[in-house]
Amino acid sequence: MLRQLQSLITRGRVLTSPAQLAGYSADGLGYKRFMPDAVVIPADADELVAFMRGAKSVGVPVILRGAGTSLSGGPVAAQGGVVVHTSSLKRIREINVEGFWCEVECGVALNDLDAALKPHGVFYPPDPSSGPVCTLGGNIASNAGGAHCFRYGVTSNYVLGVEAVMLDGSVHRFGGPAGGHGPWREDWKRFMIGSEGTLAAFTRFWLRLLPLPEKVWTFRATYPDLRSIEAAIHALVAHPAYPAAIEMIDPRGVAMVEGSQMACGLPKGSFMLLTEIDGPAALVDARVQSIAKLLRDAGSDDVVFSDDEPTRMKLWKARKAAGGLMGQLSADFVVQDAVIPKRALAEVLQLVYDEADAAGIPAVNIFHAGDGNLHPNFLFNSRKPGDLEKVEHISKALMKRVIEVGGTLSGEHGIGNDKAAYMPLVFGPDSMRLQLAVPAAFNPAHQLNPLKVLEARRFVA
Ligand SMILES: Cc1cc2nc3c(=O)[nH]c(=O)nc-3n(C[C@H](O)[C@H](O)[C@H](O)COP(=O)(O)OP(=O)(O)OC[C@H]3O[C@@H](n4cnc5c(N)ncnc54)[C@H](O)[C@@H]3O)c2cc1C
Repeated sequence: MLRQLQSLITRGRVLTSPAQLAGYSADGLGYKRFMPDAVVIPADADELVAFMRGAKSVGVPVILRGAGTSLSGGPVAAQGGVVVHTSSLKRIREINVEGFWCEVECGVALNDLDAALKPHGVFYPPDPSSGPVCTLGGNIASNAGGAHCFRYGVTSNYVLGVEAVMLDGSVHRFGGPAGGHGPWREDWKRFMIGSEGTLAAFTRFWLRLLPLPEKVWTFRATYPDLRSIEAAIHALVAHPAYPAAIEMIDPRGVAMVEGSQMACGLPKGSFMLLTEIDGPAALVDARVQSIAKLLRDAGSDDVVFSDDEPTRMKLWKARKAAGGLMGQLSADFVVQDAVIPKRALAEVLQLVYDEADAAGIPAVNIFHAGDGNLHPNFLFNSRKPGDLEKVEHISKALMKRVIEVGGTLSGEHGIGNDKAAYMPLVFGPDSMRLQLAVPAAFNPAHQLNPLKVLEARRFVA
């Protein structure tokens, strides 16, 4: 296999030493490890195409990987095989300000794109908190969300075109700078977005841009309990200012941030709401007081707001870094990504705390409240007998309730292999059969990212 890989990858790198492979054995869920047989790093898109053309004859699973920040067991070699790391495909090929689009390679880090766009007065709205490292390839394969997706919508709303390489080495463009279907009758681009590496390898994208808002105000408000913060969230969602983001951090999350280098003076012991309004200066300035009043009326006696860029950025840095701080609290963690109707927020969060407390497992909630997209983090030690079983038990109880209240399994992280077992909770046998038929049409042997999304997707050499 090594000889075959080295004949396909001549300018890039082929990694096989156990120490190198260990770095690719997990995603953000570090406790679940799957050693790949090898890792290849194609030098550019041409070499990735050459690799895909030869991959069938190598005869092992092929797993695409961007930055590996997935929280669902997505870019891991669950059935062994070769991990394809896209880190060399990181060119921003064009920023077309007049047409409000850009063309980027799949390995570009999200924040690098943001930095390149800013001087042109435009931005790409989806903003997962992993922005400093996560790649656009990973974002589009997971249909990533983020704090500002409440108002602006998730990744799929901004993908105009996808260039994808199939396992036979054929290269296809679905859509393009002008959007639409490209040279295809149906909108196959939609199949590609969120396909979690199961259909094709993406090499480049055409993305829609928006003008930067003229003015932004960021608010933080603290609440003594879940009911009052839920009331604030409902009121914000209904406010004509239509906030850009509505985020929540629970008291344990606040304490974690304040105990870290990201400390920014958040009051401890309360639930914290972070929200933002943006748009034309005169319009948003006129709405500041009514948002502050709304936050107070819902039960907060501590509302702070600012339009000062460094102050706002400090708050956002604390929010966005919070997920990554989890590793400082605990050897391991599992994060769920369920979405629920907002009317059930307080009730389902209470269930999380009750189940976790009963099991002696700390739970930390930091999430996209406006979207009803929960992110309970369960902290545990995978080396402590019984801990993992407890976490799995709590996760199952949560998912069951989520489905009962009309929610679903994932808002933005994807299913990967971590949530695949929950799929039958939501989808019946007919739906599962049809959903399996789609990746099978692209690669019948399920050579691309097997055991992901649907447990039945097993590679048969
Ligand atoms: C601290 C932290 C905060 C996070 N916050 C958010 C958040 O706010 N919103 C959110 O949506 N997610 C969030 N995530 C999850 C994760 O960052 C996103 O899912 C992100 O989109 C993954 O990008 P990546 O480059 O790391 O992809 P990877 O983890 O490498 O891969 C993710 C999936 O994409 C596939 N893939 C990668 N590249 C390609 C390609 N070129 N072609 C085809 N398939 C490919 C992989 O096979 C895998 O299935 C967070 C993660 C962390 C650790």
